[in-house]
Amino acid sequence: MDRDNILLTPGPLTTTLRTKLAMLKDWGSWDADFNAITARVRHELLDILHAQDTHVVVPLQGSGTFSVEAAVSTVVPRDGHLLVLDNGAYCKRMGKLATMMGRKTTIATRTEDAPVDTGEVERLLLADPSITHVGLIHCETGTGVVNPLKAISDLCARLGKGLIVDAMSSFAALPIDARELRFDALIAASGKCLEGVPGMGFVFLRKDLLTQCADNSHSLAMDLCDQHYYMERTGQWRFTPPTHVVVALAEAMQQFKEEGGQTARLARYEDNLRTLVDGMAALGFNTFLDPQYLSPIIVTFRAPAHPAYDFKQFYASAKAQGFMLYPGKLTEVETFRVGCIGAIGRKEMQQAVNAVARTLNEMGIASAA
Ligand SMILES: *Cc1c(COP(=O)(O)O)cnc(C)c1O
Repeated sequence: MDRDNILLTPGPLTTTLRTKLAMLKDWGSWDADFNAITARVRHELLDILHAQDTHVVVPLQGSGTFSVEAAVSTVVPRDGHLLVLDNGAYCKRMGKLATMMGRKTTIATRTEDAPVDTGEVERLLLADPSITHVGLIHCETGTGVVNPLKAISDLCARLGKGLIVDAMSSFAALPIDARELRFDALIAASGKCLEGVPGMGFVFLRKDLLTQCADNSHSLAMDLCDQHYYMERTGQWRFTPPTHVVVALAEAMQQFKEEGGQTARLARYEDNLRTLVDGMAALGFNTFLDPQYLSPIIVTFRAPAHPAYDFKQFYASAKAQGFMLYPGKLTEVETFRVGCIGAIGRKEMQQAVNAVARTLNEMGIASAA
């Protein structure tokens, strides 16, 4: 094949040739040309969230988790208390990093097959007034389930609690509007639905919080206030920026605009979801989530019950045909995941389904049911 393997994974994901080509140049981190690109990226990120009036956006080097850790460390005071709503692997990760940095953390675990329940969250908040902040994963990428951002945001506003949203896998695809939501921090990254390459995250911080947050962080590199004030003062990143990642993101965001922004991207991903789920259903595959909870980000499928099924072999055969699948993240049921995001469309999804059909055939599995 003369094209790269198609990544059916939720980051890194398949990028366009234009985005890849944007990285064929070296940039000085102190140079005005590069600083202008950083400034443009920041401005346009705020536009996507409709947050020019309410929030600033602070980019941070590293994978997405670095930005989640930085957001918690910057927003939650050292004597604060974070309630993490847990219905999957990324929720657990937020709970773990908050615990490790010494913030008092309560983890409210529920099953992974449904969204978190707003009524249950309200009861927990009323039962323990020491809780100062709530941590929510918008789309829990471990399964693909979408949690009720608007309802949790309204609840936190009503009860006077801070809210930290990990919108890593949903930002720029699912609608999120800062004019209709109240949150302290919202986190996303370059290598997800904006279809850039991995290497930087960014955190939207509520403007009126900035002065209160200056002394919260236990870590120099993770201190988003310091990163923000330095960038405002100098136009530069505080420490070496991921220059190629930033210019690739700028190029990817230009294509995002040309495509028609968030609504057009969502429409393409929804089409990917339908093509995938219909095609896989015809092969006998069942989704882990009830159809009402499926999201156009990533889909978790139950592995075939057939004795000949083996994920390693399944993966290797799909890869040999040019498609990279993703292992499941659940402990109690055997699953695998297929991403709907990235610079791919109906044709690639249909080809992926065909590759899965050939793989089943090779493995001697007549139906995945
Ligand atoms: C991708 C992702 C992250 C970040 O993961 P990294 O491996 O650090 O990039 C965090 N939360 C969610 C929901 C994600 O999908």
